[in-house]
Amino acid sequence: MVMSTDKSYNKKYLKKIIHFLYTTYGGKKIELDYETPFQLLCAVILSAQTTDKQVNKITPAFFRKVRNASDLSTIPLEDIEEKLQYVNFYRNKSRYIKETGNIIAEQYNNSIPNDLILLQTFPWIGIKTAKVVLAVLYDMPYVWVDTHIHRVMNRLWIVQTKTPEQTDKCLDIILSEQEKHILHHPTVLFGRYHCTAKKPKCETCLIKNMCTFYKTIKNRSQ
Ligand code: SF4
Repeated sequence: MVMSTDKSYNKKYLKKIIHFLYTTYGGKKIELDYETPFQLLCAVILSAQTTDKQVNKITPAFFRKVRNASDLSTIPLEDIEEKLQYVNFYRNKSRYIKETGNIIAEQYNNSIPNDLILLQTFPWIGIKTAKVVLAVLYDMPYVWVDTHIHRVMNRLWIVQTKTPEQTDKCLDIILSEQEKHILHHPTVLFGRYHCTAKKPKCETCLIKNMCTFYKTIKNRSQ
């Protein structure tokens, strides 16, 4: 794992990229639908290895019955599974949502704790889920690296890493708190809709002149 060196990465360059991402995709919210903090937590848990679109299809029926963690206490696990059956790993996810809901209802008075370490002690809540929830609910400065951010950051040569976990560590070091506040959603949306994994729309990309990936494929085709 290495961060790009001065040869290609520097603070000025990073600022330009962040400015582009923010002005293009900033202001847009997380694409998971929810109304309450606990519903957000459920939606994020459900979104592991499932698209946001699929999660949004199945959550309305579930959320009509579950607004807060305490609502789960009277709902049998089988009923939760039945409502969530169209997402991957729904049995495990249903169990973890039920267990997490019990903890939040009984020990935290139905509130989601705003503590990264504490949240990760709950069932199924890893670092990514915890960061998403804290950043969205409490505007805390966390970037959680998914495949989109990992891909975009590497194509732009901001990091040179093999895994999202390595990218996460690098970004944690090179980004300021303010940059962490604004980077996540714009980068995910840019990766999801423009700098896509299989067919990135490079010819219409406004930062292609700064993009190492683009320059490399251009050079290869000449
Ligand atoms: S030029 Fe292509 S690879 Fe580079 S950031 Fe734009 S869309 Fe992504």
